Amino acid sequence: MRVGVLALQGDFALHAKALEKCGVEAVEVRKPSELDDVEGLIIPGGESTTLLKLMEAWNFVSTIEKFHGAGKPIFGTCAGLIILAREVESPTQFSLGLIDVTVERNAYGRQRESFEASGVARLDAGPIPLEMVFIRAPRIRRLGPGVQVLAEHRGEPVMARQGRVLVATFHPELTDTTMRTAWTCTLLDRTNRSRT
Ligand code: GLN
Repeated sequence: MRVGVLALQGDFALHAKALEKCGVEAVEVRKPSELDDVEGLIIPGGESTTLLKLMEAWNFVSTIEKFHGAGKPIFGTCAGLIILAREVESPTQFSLGLIDVTVERNAYGRQRESFEASGVARLDAGPIPLEMVFIRAPRIRRLGPGVQVLAEHRGEPVMARQGRVLVATFHPELTDTTMRTAWTCTLLDRTNRSRT
C-alpha cells in the first residue's frame, strides 16, 4: 500500500516516517500527477494560507477533488483539516469543502497556542489512547449531520470523519512512537475497510 503525503509545506516529513513505521510506503507528493500512484493522501499541519497558495499555484485543488471523487481516503491534520473543511472562519478563506464542518483558525488564543493533552479515539477496532499535541490549532465549531466524532478534548470534537475524509485538529505525527504507530495503522485499517 502506498500513501501520499502532500509535501508542499509543513510537517510532511514526520508524517512520512510515521507511515513507514506501519509498513506503509509513504510517497511525498509534490506534483498533482503523483496522486495517480497513491491509494490515500495525508494533508499535514503547517500554515493553511501558505499551503493553499501553493496548492493553487501547483493546480492541486481540482486534482484533490477528483482524488476524493474517486473514493480515495484523505486525512487532514491541523492546517490539513482547515484545507478540507466546508467553512473556515477567522478569517474566512477558501477551502475544499470535503468534510461538512466549520473550523475557526488559531482558536485557542495566545495563552494556549500550543499544548498537549491525552484522550481516547473511538475507532471501529475499539478505543485507543491518544496523545494530542495542539499547535496554533483550529477548533471545530460546527459539525454537519454526516460527520462522526472520533475523539474529543474537553467535550469538543478534535478528530472526526465523514465518509473517507478523516480530520484531526492536533498533530498525531509528533507523539510517542508506539502511540503514533498504533494510531496511524488503526486509521489506515479503518479507511481501508470503509472502501469495501
Ligand atoms: N494555525 C495554522 C493555520 O491556521 C494551523 C497550525 C498547524 O497546522 N499546526 O493554518
